[in-house]
Amino acid sequence: MKETYADIIIDISHEKVDRPFQYLIPERLKGTLREGMAVTVPFGAGNQERQGYVVGITDRAECAPEKLKAITDIRRNDISVEADFIRLAAWMKRQYGSTMITALKTVLPVRQKRRKLEKITVRLKADRPEAERLLQEMEQKHRTARARLLQALLLQEELPQEIITSRLHVTARTVREMEALGIVEVLHARQYRNPVREREGREDRNELSPMQRQIVSEITADLRTERPGVHLLHGITGSGKTEVYLAVIEDVVARGRQAIVLIPEIALTYQTVLRFYRRFGDRVSVMNSRLSQGERFDQFERAKAGEIDVMIGPRSALFTPFARLGLIVMDEEHEPSYKSESMPKYHARETAVQIASMQGAGVLLGSATPSLESYYRAKQGEYRLHRLQERLTGGALPDVYTVDLRKELEEGNRSIFSRKLQELLEERLVRGEQTMLFLNRRGYAGFVSCRSCGYVVKCPHCDVSLSQHKDGRMRCHYCGYSEPQKKLCPQCGSKYLLGFKAGTQQIEELLAAQYPQARVLRMDADTTKGREDHERLLSAFAGHEADILVGTQMIVKGHDFPDVTLVGILAADLSLSAGDYRAAERTFQLLTQAAGRAGRGKRSGEVVIQTYQPEHYAVTYAARQDYEAFYEEEILYRELLCYPPAAHMMAVQIGAREQKAGETLAKRLAELAAEERVTVIGPAAAHVSRISDVYRFAVYVKHRDYDRLVAVKDKIERELDAMESRQETVQFDFDPVNAF
Ligand code: ADP
Ligand code: ZN
Ligand code: ZN
Repeated sequence: MKETYADIIIDISHEKVDRPFQYLIPERLKGTLREGMAVTVPFGAGNQERQGYVVGITDRAECAPEKLKAITDIRRNDISVEADFIRLAAWMKRQYGSTMITALKTVLPVRQKRRKLEKITVRLKADRPEAERLLQEMEQKHRTARARLLQALLLQEELPQEIITSRLHVTARTVREMEALGIVEVLHARQYRNPVREREGREDRNELSPMQRQIVSEITADLRTERPGVHLLHGITGSGKTEVYLAVIEDVVARGRQAIVLIPEIALTYQTVLRFYRRFGDRVSVMNSRLSQGERFDQFERAKAGEIDVMIGPRSALFTPFARLGLIVMDEEHEPSYKSESMPKYHARETAVQIASMQGAGVLLGSATPSLESYYRAKQGEYRLHRLQERLTGGALPDVYTVDLRKELEEGNRSIFSRKLQELLEERLVRGEQTMLFLNRRGYAGFVSCRSCGYVVKCPHCDVSLSQHKDGRMRCHYCGYSEPQKKLCPQCGSKYLLGFKAGTQQIEELLAAQYPQARVLRMDADTTKGREDHERLLSAFAGHEADILVGTQMIVKGHDFPDVTLVGILAADLSLSAGDYRAAERTFQLLTQAAGRAGRGKRSGEVVIQTYQPEHYAVTYAARQDYEAFYEEEILYRELLCYPPAAHMMAVQIGAREQKAGETLAKRLAELAAEERVTVIGPAAAHVSRISDVYRFAVYVKHRDYDRLVAVKDKIERELDAMESRQETVQFDFDPVNAF
């Protein structure tokens, strides 16, 4: 390709990101100009000098070349936040494969209309005894939103409106109503007082343990250097990791720099946010994935304007444009949700490391069960490893019992609850302690099959089975298709067409039948559809409104439940059969984290792991809470089979309306890859071979050297560019986290 023309965007924080302008590359800049560089160009009728960024280089002119203006020069020492993000987009494009525009849209929030930014806080006006009386009254009248707000304000007298609406899920209208009653007052920016100063000395902060202090000082010392590194904090839940983050961030902020704290959305509870808020006051802001583009833009503007020091949020908070970023914290760094599932399919961890190195910031990863990736890098000396060994709130590690479900059946127990689990559960009910029952997959529940001929009811648009639901319909969890429950088998006409295996719903029903005195809450994707449901269910359980919480993996995150002394994992193997190379890792993490929920309070806990494969290493090591041993065994397997992190893998994902055409393209791309002396697997039908009538194929390419995979990707992209009128879609996924 001859480097003749450059696509340039002029105003990046604007819808015009969509519309680059083409310029000629002058002879003297050819070979030097790169995507992501800042340039000056003549713009508009008066040829005014403007700044712009290169988002593409090509040999194809979009209009008559003689009409194009030429780039004036490269701005070599552009150090604006924007320039960093443009360079980041260029890095993402290269690293993960996407267009520059898609990458830009991922890292830059698009400005919509300008609204006035105003900081609003809500403060308790009634005195405490009055507020406590009101709280009781609201609770009795089931005015739950009002009660929630009062409860929060009793804990913390002044709270930002954004936390109240986004995390407490109390609407602005409810707040106004309570203001009208004289219970609270709403303060606007002018009247706003800094709650930190006001509350001086009131935050019940913990004296750091010697171990914590040691770690904080090591990390802090590193962050004060020119080129801070990446730190991995390995500590079980409750070992005081968050306390370490807070202390490290405090030092960062004291030095006039800012911090981004990534927390998976599901763990981003009010409790967590409040802890940061109490330490940093209104200099903290929270993001969530439900924010509109405009709201996200506003948040980012506040960050840019220097109004906040700490941004907390899920993956996308990574792109907060702080002027002097000092640290990126990534809690629960092993979480699959840190991997983007749309283009560019970036991993927040690698991207965080990239952003930090561009801005001279450090990275702090934390987990009870680090990803194989991070632990591997720590072992290689690339990351620095810190350990927190003990729980600080007392409570020894729980006793774990592994129950072989095959034996249960042999010995005549046909129930989904093993005898051990029943025995311990009954004890809890008598003692008034709480139990969590955990089923690690929802979709598995209730697939409908014929007991007579084996026919399985499938979605007509996707290659997955439909699930039975309580409302009498069968649903597809991929495309949302549903149909009424069939009465007779369409294949053999028998009436034994039944829902199979126990889902969370069925477990709830079984419990109700077996323990009518027990109060049961269920938490899964079906019961948490509304924005408030997740938080509401957790608070209800924390408030002891139920004895047993049944749920999918979402119950193992976030909230602390000090009264839970028993955790039952009903079928540990379900995630082992997921069929990708991360299945054992995921199972180990889920089991360890679920087990870690027991005995968080003063009383010690017990855990029952029910499984068909009690001898599987993911199960045995999780039962012993032995991360190190699990890692050693798992990494051996990855090395043997050249899976990440021992090597790198790129998935080329093909989607096609026409099965034949998809197959042909997949085959062609596999051949192309094979020319590059890399290991090629496939093409094969994807794990889910059809979704919404689109056929899916995958080609896997493996090599130790990431750059070799990038070269293969570039080659495929060139081939695709040269093809005419292609109907199929092609996406890349580097070191994939989820099966395609
Ligand atoms: P993690 O993030 O590892 O789950 P946290 O930082 O949330 O751990 O700490 C767990 C609990 O222990 C919290 O209730 C916290 O307030 C408490 N805690 C943390 N550090 C200390 C300390 N140094 N002294 C006393 N309690 C502490
Ligand atoms: Zn049948
Ligand atoms: Zn479907």
